[in-house]
Amino acid sequence: MTESFSELSLAPSLAKAVAKMGYETMTPIQAQAIPVVLQGRDVMGAAQTGTGKTAAFSLPLLQRLLRHENASASPARHPVRALVLLPTRELASQVADQITQYAEFTNLRCTVVFGGMDIKPQIAELRKGVEVLVATPGRLLDHIEGKSAVLNQVEYVVLDEADRMLDIGFLPDLQRILSHLPKKRTTLLFSATFSTDIKRLANSYLQDPVTIEVARSNATAATVEQRFYSASGEDKRLALLALIKQHDVKQAFVFVNSKLGCARLARNLERDGLRTAAMHGDKSQDERLKALAAFKAGEVDLLVCTDVAARGLDIKDVPVVFNIDLPYNAEDYVHRIGRTGRAGASGLAISLVSSSDGRFLGDIEKLIKIKAEVEAIEMPVASGRAPRDDRRPREDRGQQDRPRREERIDKRDDDRMANRAESRDPKARYQPVRQTKSDPLFDKPYEPSLPPETTPAWEAAPSAKPRGISANIKSRRKVAALFKSTV
Ligand code: AMP
Repeated sequence: MTESFSELSLAPSLAKAVAKMGYETMTPIQAQAIPVVLQGRDVMGAAQTGTGKTAAFSLPLLQRLLRHENASASPARHPVRALVLLPTRELASQVADQITQYAEFTNLRCTVVFGGMDIKPQIAELRKGVEVLVATPGRLLDHIEGKSAVLNQVEYVVLDEADRMLDIGFLPDLQRILSHLPKKRTTLLFSATFSTDIKRLANSYLQDPVTIEVARSNATAATVEQRFYSASGEDKRLALLALIKQHDVKQAFVFVNSKLGCARLARNLERDGLRTAAMHGDKSQDERLKALAAFKAGEVDLLVCTDVAARGLDIKDVPVVFNIDLPYNAEDYVHRIGRTGRAGASGLAISLVSSSDGRFLGDIEKLIKIKAEVEAIEMPVASGRAPRDDRRPREDRGQQDRPRREERIDKRDDDRMANRAESRDPKARYQPVRQTKSDPLFDKPYEPSLPPETTPAWEAAPSAKPRGISANIKSRRKVAALFKSTV
């Protein structure tokens, strides 16, 4: 089987983009799917985000669309030829970003439409003409109804994360969208599992598909070091600061269970002088995308987020994930720590465990078949107060066993698609994590993607004004000073 991209007969414009991305070896899903899609066959692929499946379908799809490539400015010469459907706005935006990069040296255009954003700029973009349209189902239907998306020349449809689209209840929307498409087309369906519902969907809409299954990338067990530390209530923030120092953390995702907790922690960390952004269900789509972009650009050191806001995001090279709270669902733990150790990087997942987290920790141990060893942290003496469990903020007390109200509200969103996308999945599909043979792709050491001049706020000179701090927030305590007491 072909392993290297150079052995594929990719068009020079696509090969150039692949080289620019730094890809050399194909991931298993790419090695299997690319030749099949190049032949124009329908595919039913079992693969998850993080396995390289976006390139697996988009590179061959772009290659086949190259015959339509033209430099004309006329919108009529750029009808929608390929439609990629995803369950959430973040995933849609991420996939569109990747496709745009793969198409960089071609004249093929790609755009994305999803809910929660002003529809007018999307309409303007669609009217200019676009060959590859990435969309969430709800907003796409709005465009179909408003006639801003005309799909009668679609040749390729990708149903990505199909199981999640069904879980969310998108089946009727998908059926309506598919009814607008030409019968003669290639359909690619990707799903983490092949449940009965998925098989039924495939039977209805795919023709003689080639089934491709790759093992879960399983970054959890293969490349992520997992550490557990004991900390409770307000001490968790101090614990986080100490662990950042101890593990020489440059950038990290910080997971918190509730929206309120997320906003409060981000605010406090910013007061501590750290460049921090919060991402939760109360943030507008625009704010979330900005936070994500700032994190990717290395302008933010800590992205504090809830599960709902971060689900499905693929951010490469995050060396560390912190769990300030253990998640209520063990599956969410797998999701969270999947942000690190992706596509070759080795990662570190650090979880803070409070005395009332026993059940959640037990669930995680059972799901991913590990025995967690909870370590003590050498805490810097900062507040002068003895760390005590009962000194948790009032809203933390007695609430450890069930999601708080605001956490439940976090599952609501301002758009019907995201509304459903962000609800906690009752039939979480993540399989228990098994130790797998490591994949050459996933063995590369972590290389920070930050520009060399970027220094995390906590490594800046103590006298320097923290860059990310809001002008209207007074720094109560310089984090460097806090660390000084421990070193
Ligand atoms: P995906 O599963 O498509 O979301 O991809 C996961 C991550 O792996 C993305 O950040 C890609 O840029 C990266 N990636 C995809 N294919 C390769 C490859 N062949 N080699 C290295 N990285 C890759």
